[in-house]
Amino acid sequence: MKTSDAWKTVALSILVVWVTAICGCAGRYRTAWGDVHGHTELSDGKGSLDDYFHHARDVAHLDFAIVTDHDFGHEAPWRMPAADWQLTQSKAEEFTVDGGFIAIAGYEWTSQEKYWTGVTNQASERLFPGPPSFYNHKIVYFPAAVPYLFSAKDPSFNNPDLLAEAVRREGGLIHNAHPDAPPQGRDQFDYSPFNSDVIANTEMSGDVIRYRGTNYPVLVEQTVRRFLDHGGRTGFVAGSDTHEGKTAAHTAVLVHDLTRTAILDALRHRRTYAINHARIGLDFRINGHVMGEEVEVNAPPRICVRVRGTALIEEITLVRDGVAIEVIHPSRRNVKLAFVDRSFAGSSYYYVRVIQSDLDEHGNKSCAWSSPIWVHPRRPPPARAHAG
Ligand SMILES: [Zn+2]
Ligand SMILES: [Zn+2]
Repeated sequence: MKTSDAWKTVALSILVVWVTAICGCAGRYRTAWGDVHGHTELSDGKGSLDDYFHHARDVAHLDFAIVTDHDFGHEAPWRMPAADWQLTQSKAEEFTVDGGFIAIAGYEWTSQEKYWTGVTNQASERLFPGPPSFYNHKIVYFPAAVPYLFSAKDPSFNNPDLLAEAVRREGGLIHNAHPDAPPQGRDQFDYSPFNSDVIANTEMSGDVIRYRGTNYPVLVEQTVRRFLDHGGRTGFVAGSDTHEGKTAAHTAVLVHDLTRTAILDALRHRRTYAINHARIGLDFRINGHVMGEEVEVNAPPRICVRVRGTALIEEITLVRDGVAIEVIHPSRRNVKLAFVDRSFAGSSYYYVRVIQSDLDEHGNKSCAWSSPIWVHPRRPPPARAHAG
């Protein structure tokens, strides 16, 4: 990762002109803060659904929260009981107040190697037919009540494409939970590109996380970038994955108003960014288009980044097609930058990573990752057919 003095010089010299010209449309959206992944006693977490949503609304002061218990139950036949799913949906309705707090019913589609026939000796868990595969976990949620969830252990929904087709029919959405680096995570992104409209986002975090004094290489950002490098489409979200009932702000969504419809629309269109601790404000645009969008250009892309830190911003990195093309170290709380990418040479994705100087309780620096913006050269208009 290189630090470019040229980037600083270019950015500063054109800052005044371009910040106005490129970022002039800021304010179309407001930021809503939420948690998109967490468990209760319905699966393997602590506390009730009431506890979960009370904490999200009154302690964590979130704008929205998705509850995502596992799709397995506590005993054979290893499915979440229908009554638990109905209760999850009715509690989400009970806690939702438009403009105040939005509760969303979801579940965690749990596809793990140990459940495949022949992988385990525990007969009660030999539930997946066919050759062993491992699709990891996916978070599923819906705009309105659906009669029953689509379990990973049901042969009708036991791979991501089958799941995506069923969820699309109900108007729901999916995101990839906690990606793993291969070999365990080898199948997590194994789905048709046509289903990326339903499997819209992926939980992002750093490549190394610090937990209780120890560093763990998790390679999440590398794994997600590899998917993008191969043409995959995904935005970035994050969740606490709390099993202790302690929801926290990990996903920011750009919305016009605070309703379930608006939040799901933002998630569907990837107007999202992931944070791991502090609520860093981040506005990333290319030619005026916000994160998550596809943009056509007929000149070098004009990139604008605004960061509103809650502490000093240590580093801002602009990534294009898996490579950090610019890195700056502003040492300020609020940063506005503008940049024209004159090396743009063809269809590319861009995203921004921000590192702030403060630490969470385990010693991880606060970070933010914008969802990508995809930029393409404008296609020439189709040639006119010659009459006669
Ligand atoms: Zn999980
Ligand atoms: Zn989970």
